[in-house]
Amino acid sequence: EQAAAGQLVATLFSSAAAIIAEHEDELGTLDAIAGDGDHGRGMRRGIDAASTAATQAAGRRASAGRVLATAGQAWADNAGGTSGVLWGAALTAAATTLGDHVPNPKSTAAAIAAAVDAIRTLGKAELGDKTMLDALIPFRDRFRDETERGSTFSDAWRAAATVAEEAAAATSSLSPRVGRARPLSERSIGHPDPGATSFALIVNTALPNNS
Ligand code: ADP
Ligand code: MG
Ligand code: MG
Repeated sequence: EQAAAGQLVATLFSSAAAIIAEHEDELGTLDAIAGDGDHGRGMRRGIDAASTAATQAAGRRASAGRVLATAGQAWADNAGGTSGVLWGAALTAAATTLGDHVPNPKSTAAAIAAAVDAIRTLGKAELGDKTMLDALIPFRDRFRDETERGSTFSDAWRAAATVAEEAAAATSSLSPRVGRARPLSERSIGHPDPGATSFALIVNTALPNNS
């Protein structure tokens, strides 16, 4: 059962890698509005490496936590850019929280919270600064609320992913207060944050549907 959970995580990474490949150019264009235009390329390099590493780890019958840890390391090593460092740290923190147990809704909620904390510690951004956190924090909160009211894993994930998509779209009206987009923050208004957009794409594609 532990190996099956690891395999599921690897499958989710491969779906997520496919959606990022599909949206690579669009994410780059979005990042070019006020940033340096490399978000699509960086996300693709990171998630492709993460997916490959996850598949290999799952092939060794690794636990979900170990698959995530391996993927996080590969992502950080290969992506380049701020988002790659943050995704790597987030996955590593989530993996540490899960340990080698088979994930359940409660431990997954704790792992998501640990991922958010790792990003906040490293990047020092807060809600409203127009970063990936503006999609991640609402995702974390909705997932936790759903699990507390007894929703299944997949229902909680779906509800949280929908909230993340709305929250990513809502970053359009914000002005960036951190990161590379800050000096050109005026240009960014009216366009969603690239990192929040890619996060929403990933969680809406990587849908666990058999637990
Ligand atoms: P870079 O800015 O180094 O070129 P990317 O283009 O890959 O990196 O990623 C940009 C995204 O990273 C932003 O859209 C934002 O979501 C996220 N980001 C940037 N700085 C921070 C930060 N300090 N905290 C959280 N997220 C951040
Ligand atoms: Mg960039
Ligand atoms: Mg860059």
